[in-house]
Amino acid sequence: MSMSVLKSAEEMQRWALEQRGAGKRIGLVPTMGYLHEGHLSLIAEAKKRADAVVVSIFVNPVQFGPNEDFAKYPRDEARDLKLCREAGAAAVFVPPVPAMYAPDASVFITEERLGSGLCGARRPGHFRGVCTVVAKLFNLTLPHVAVFGQKDYQQAAVIRRMVRDLNFPLEIVVAPIVREADGLAMSSRNVFLSGDERARALGLSRALRVAADAVAAGPCAADAVRRRMSKELEKHALKIDYAEIVDAETLEPVGDARQGNVALIAAYCGKTRLIDNRVL
Ligand code: AMP
Repeated sequence: MSMSVLKSAEEMQRWALEQRGAGKRIGLVPTMGYLHEGHLSLIAEAKKRADAVVVSIFVNPVQFGPNEDFAKYPRDEARDLKLCREAGAAAVFVPPVPAMYAPDASVFITEERLGSGLCGARRPGHFRGVCTVVAKLFNLTLPHVAVFGQKDYQQAAVIRRMVRDLNFPLEIVVAPIVREADGLAMSSRNVFLSGDERARALGLSRALRVAADAVAAGPCAADAVRRRMSKELEKHALKIDYAEIVDAETLEPVGDARQGNVALIAAYCGKTRLIDNRVL
């Protein structure tokens, strides 16, 4: 079956209503494009849970800060469409920015608890942009199930909360992090890394391993674990944005780190900001 490529909000909604009318279960995989194996794993997961999978590809300006990489975020629509087709997507939604935001758009969604620390603290307005665009994508694609990656642990938690608190009638699934053979979490931004930076980027997953090893024998002071993570990051000449151990549900920093907590890191490798996390 041929894949539909939809560009406007109206076309997208019409497609979704047709699928629903035909009794199909819709699965949504929201992305910013420049697809890699991580994204493809989400499409595969969605295909298991839905009859028709729609992949959205939209670099959402509202979730980028003024000094962030919106303009230079990698884009390759032709390649993305080919990958979606090969992965068996039924539709791809690739709206231009004006199809998503009226120039005088004035309604935005803010989650007020889970999104305030970590990336939310370091990127003010980020999760407001994420919640708003994801809510819009839900209204446009009418999914029964939407699949997100654990790579963005805090984002998944914020979206789950939005779905719960605003009663979106759909199921959220969070799929595991897909990594390169050496442990680096796949990310569209990895394309920015020079050879030397690519080697040093390994520091994130190494530091998460250090945290997991630290709690393997039993709970220990989170301060001490954070210091060990920082040391590992510094060893790889990474500039730490944050390195935290938090409760898996509340995302509040813990005093004692233990198994089941989540270690989260954001660090700059040169100019590229990378994130990674691990459930301990
Ligand atoms: P992005 O295009 O980076 O905004 O990501 C779109 C979706 O893919 C989000 O739900 C991410 O969490 C997920 N994702 C990104 N990288 C990975 C990865 N390495 N493994 C699994 N999921 C990922």
